[in-house]
Amino acid sequence: MKDCLFCKIVAKEIPAEIVYETGRTLAFRDIDPKAPTHVLVIPKEHHADAAALAEADDGLTDEVLKAAHAVAVLDQVAERGYRVVFNTGPAAGQTVFHTHAHVLGGRDLTWPPG
Ligand code: AMP
Ligand code: ZN
Repeated sequence: MKDCLFCKIVAKEIPAEIVYETGRTLAFRDIDPKAPTHVLVIPKEHHADAAALAEADDGLTDEVLKAAHAVAVLDQVAERGYRVVFNTGPAAGQTVFHTHAHVLGGRDLTWPPG
C-alpha cells in the first residue's frame, strides 16, 4: 500500500533490522525499543489492524502469532516469558496502521500496561 511505512519496510524501500522472515510475515526490531527485546511482527500483506487481519480469515493471523513465538525463542526470552501486544485503534496507542504484533521481553513487564 502506497505511503504505508511498514509496506515500505516489506518492499525494502526503508531499512530495518530484520530478525525473522517467513513467506508471509516479517519481523524487525522496533526503532524505539521499550524492552531489551522489542520486535515487531507484521504480515507482509497490508491489513490496517488486528481486527482486519483476523477478518481476512486465511491463516495469516496464526502465522503472525507463530512468528512472534519464533522471535521470542530466537531472542531467548520464550522460556522466562514475553508479551505479545496488538495495539488496535488510536485509544490503544496504535500509530502505524499496518497491523503489527509487538514482541516484548528480556525484563519483568508490569501489569496492567499504561
Ligand atoms: P504502534 O504505536 O502500536 O502503532 O507501534 C508502532 C511502532 O512502530 C512503535 O513502537 C515505533 O517505535 C515503531 N516504528 C516506527 N517507525 C519504525 C521504523 N522505521 N522501524 C522500526 N520500528 C518503527
Ligand atoms: Zn502496509
